[in-house]
Amino acid sequence: MSSQPPEGPHARSPQRVWRERLAALGFHPSRRLGQNFLLDANLARALVRDAGVEAGDFVLEVGPGLGFLTRPLLEAGARVLAVEIDGRLLEILREDLGGHEGLELVGADVLAGKHELDPRVRAALPRSGPWRLVANLPYSISAPLLALLGELPCPPTALDVLVQLEVAERLCARPGTRAWGPLGVRLQAAYEAGLGRRLGPAQFWPRPQVESAVVQLRRRPDAPSGDQQARLSGLVTGLFHRRRQKLLRVLGDLLGSREAAAGLLAELEIDPGLRAETLEVETLRALAESPTWKARREGSAPPGPPPTGDRSRGPQS
Ligand code: SAM
Repeated sequence: MSSQPPEGPHARSPQRVWRERLAALGFHPSRRLGQNFLLDANLARALVRDAGVEAGDFVLEVGPGLGFLTRPLLEAGARVLAVEIDGRLLEILREDLGGHEGLELVGADVLAGKHELDPRVRAALPRSGPWRLVANLPYSISAPLLALLGELPCPPTALDVLVQLEVAERLCARPGTRAWGPLGVRLQAAYEAGLGRRLGPAQFWPRPQVESAVVQLRRRPDAPSGDQQARLSGLVTGLFHRRRQKLLRVLGDLLGSREAAAGLLAELEIDPGLRAETLEVETLRALAESPTWKARREGSAPPGPPPTGDRSRGPQS
C-alpha cells in the first residue's frame, strides 16, 4: 500500500486510510512497544532529508513500524536494514515493501539483552566503513540502544533519531545541568550532538503524552577507541551515581584510596572540590585515561600519589 493520499474531491486523508486499514486488521498499537507512528509522509520525507541520507548509504532503522521512514530512506537510495519486533507490523511491511531490493527486514528484538544487540542484527551490520542509524525510537530502548551502538567495534558514523524530548535533552546536555549524565557523556565523547526538529504529540498516532525531538549525532575524529570508551563508561557510571558529592570523595571511594584520588586530581590539575555533575567530557576522558584509573580497571592496586606532585593544587583538608 502506498502512503500517497487517494485523489478526488471526497478523498479521505492518508492518515484516515491507514487507520482504517489497521482497524480492519484488528491492529491496536502497543504502548509497551512505544508504538506512536508517524502517519505523515511529507514529515517523514523531511526527516530523512534533514538527516542527509545519500544513495548507497547503509542505514539501520530500528522499529520501522508501518514504514513511514523506511519509504523515503529507500527512495533516497539507501540500503536499509530494518529491525521490527512486532510480527503484525512485519506482515504489513512485507506486503508493502517486501520486494524492494534495498531492504532487509529482520523480525527481532534489537536488544538481545540490555547490553547486547540481537546476533542477527550484529551479523548484518557493516564491519568497517561508515554507516548510519535513522529511526523513530521507542522510548523504552532509546538510551540503552544508543549507548550500545556508539560502543560497537564498528560504530555508526551518523545517528539521526527521533526520541522523547527528555532523552533528546539528556543526549545534548551540557555539564552542570540536570540532564547531564552518563548517557550524554558516553555519546558526546564520541559524537558531536545537535538538537533538530521538535515534534508535538499531534504528529503521531496514537498521540503520546510528551513532546519529541530529533537528535543528530556525528562521529568525532577523536572519538575514543573501544577500550577507552569502556574505561570512560566505568568511571562515569561510578562518578554520576553520586553526582552531587565532591569529586575527591567519590573518586577516592572508586579507587579505594583517598590519597590516590588526591594525587590524580593534582596531577591533572582538577579541582577536587568539584562535583561530578559539572565535569566536562574532556576532563572525564583525561581521568579515565590516567594510569591510576587504568590500573583500577585492570584490577591492580592504583599507584599512590606522585612523589613530587604540586600539593598546592591538591585537596583542601
Ligand atoms: N518508524 C515508525 C514510525 O516512525 O512511524 C515506528 C516508530 S514507533 C515510535 C517504534 C517502533 O519500534 C514500533 O514499530 C515498535 O513495534 C518497534 N519496537 C519497539 N521495541 C522494539 C525492539 N526492542 N526491537 C525492535 N523494534 C522495536
